Amino acid sequence: MSSNPENELAAVISSAQELLRWEETLGGQGFPAPKPPSPHETPLAGPGARGSDQDIQPRLQVLADEAAECTRCELSRGRTKSVFARGTPDTDLVFVGEGPGFHEDQQGLPFVGRAGQLLDRMVAAMGYDRDGVYICNVVKCRPPDNRTPLPVEAAACAHFLIPQLDLVRPKTIVALGRCAAENLNVVPPAGRWRGIWGEWRGIPVMPTYHPAFLLRSPQFKKPVWEDLQEVLKVLNRAAPKR
Ligand code: SF4
Repeated sequence: MSSNPENELAAVISSAQELLRWEETLGGQGFPAPKPPSPHETPLAGPGARGSDQDIQPRLQVLADEAAECTRCELSRGRTKSVFARGTPDTDLVFVGEGPGFHEDQQGLPFVGRAGQLLDRMVAAMGYDRDGVYICNVVKCRPPDNRTPLPVEAAACAHFLIPQLDLVRPKTIVALGRCAAENLNVVPPAGRWRGIWGEWRGIPVMPTYHPAFLLRSPQFKKPVWEDLQEVLKVLNRAAPKR
């Protein structure tokens, strides 16, 4: 056996070339192409530092398709359709609610019932188009009788929520209701939770009341509007004059 390094290098190159020829003979393309990254393996980036739309749309679709077939928790048993998101991921503002209701479960879209119409008016009052923001929920399947998702269900569905938000990477998240705020870890241990900025994986989160609660208790619309104005300040935007 030769101990000459140049001869050894030539031998390595020669066997690599032989391997490639062998792969081509078998009809392959040489060495296998690297697998695309799983949408569950999204590296952490700063707020607003998402990838290009071309990159994240297919990865969000992989997650949505997976959620449509998911049986990770008991909520899969009662669903008509899983409800992944609506709006555009190419946005600086994301709303996270609790879970789908009756109409959402039927249509497979979040916030399309009366609470959704109120959310649309809130979004318009902030100066965004209805589809200019991204809207999703803590759980993707409807809880029975519209109850709050159980911690075990929310924990199972974090399998989707975490990569979903990491892919969109908005500049700000609005948590709609205490359930969303708790699951984004922005509820202080005691006292008031609404209207106090928190942070989820580096993204500022404003917790505020859920639109369904506002339909029952319209007197709380004013503090919610104040919260949304705080959000606009962070986004460096002004609400349109009404
Ligand atoms: S709620 Fe989430 S974790 Fe549970 S079955 Fe639906 S998609 Fe899966």
